[in-house]
Amino acid sequence: MQFKDVFIDQNLKNKLLELVQTGRIAHAQFFLTHPGSHALALAIALGQYLCCENPSDEDSCGECPSCKQYANLAHPDLHLYFPNCITENIKKDPESSKLANEFRNFVFKHNFFVNINSWLNELKGENKQPSINIRDCSNILYYNSMRSFQNGYKVYILWGADKLYRDAAPKLLKTLEEPEEKSLFILISEEPDKILNTILSRTQLIKITRLSDSSISSNLLKDFPELTEQEANDIAIIANGDYIKASQLASNNEDETDFLEYFEQFFDSIFAFAHRLSLHEINYNGITEIISSISAQGREYQKQFLAFSLKMLRNILLSNTNNKEILKVTHKEQYVLDKFNGKFQLKQVSQMYELCNKAIYHITRYGNVSLILTDLYFQLAKVSV
Ligand SMILES: [Zn+2]
Repeated sequence: MQFKDVFIDQNLKNKLLELVQTGRIAHAQFFLTHPGSHALALAIALGQYLCCENPSDEDSCGECPSCKQYANLAHPDLHLYFPNCITENIKKDPESSKLANEFRNFVFKHNFFVNINSWLNELKGENKQPSINIRDCSNILYYNSMRSFQNGYKVYILWGADKLYRDAAPKLLKTLEEPEEKSLFILISEEPDKILNTILSRTQLIKITRLSDSSISSNLLKDFPELTEQEANDIAIIANGDYIKASQLASNNEDETDFLEYFEQFFDSIFAFAHRLSLHEINYNGITEIISSISAQGREYQKQFLAFSLKMLRNILLSNTNNKEILKVTHKEQYVLDKFNGKFQLKQVSQMYELCNKAIYHITRYGNVSLILTDLYFQLAKVSV
């Protein structure tokens, strides 16, 4: 991966290059990223640049043996760590190295636009708690105590560093504090709150800025030539800097369409229930069907549905408070928003928001989803009266 192929603001690439060239690059970096960014690509490009035999001021050469090994994510001094868990093939003692092939294929398949949810789907391990675990940390310490294979930089990338298992993290403190020469640690995460402060304080913060709508839209036109310019612009606005989401919308991802339908039915029914409308309008059978079809999916899907509902509730709040200009919605979402406009009071909507948030928490804690959603339905109806 060369810097030129990383879809990230050029100023940030220049900043990293300058840090390397002036010898101010800290041995432990924290890439604070956001959903749908190319942060992993940036980390690989940085490692490749440090190990390149013939780098220019702007980029690695892309031709030398080291660059070629990096291009295949197969450089012996590149160590990748990522959340892992027991899978169909790995029945016990999971660790990143055992899933290295799967991870490489996954990264290539998505052209480095990767997020934890899609990785968990790939692992088919979404109902388990994945982590960068104690065995991974022991491996890091082991490689760190060895000489590098090619006499250059050893690069350790911890993708999804917030999933670093709490009891394992302290093992790394000393290494991050007093690293071996020519070693670089890059921690990547969207959720710094979940990382121990003692770890974060030992790193240099690199904030991955969101891409502008116009750069997203022009990249979409390259990746999806069938889109019109107007469509690409609309998608870029909704994606809000998240290129994974933009690509999903561009390829007509079905999930959000389902979510919107579920949301509409759910809240139609809640409104009918709260206002004692007819049983036909309450349509409780329809709700039971929705709940059982959501419960039949994996936990990530369930959380995504609730996150979608949060987004819609937030949009209802915004459109009720005349903040329409900052709304980012599709045509169909606008239709549903208009339908609910004025049906619920602001206070009710914010209580609903809290309730959905709580439900996400309970799902994360492995509660019974069908009970959680049924309970959520009645709680929402209660606050709507
Ligand atoms: Zn090179």
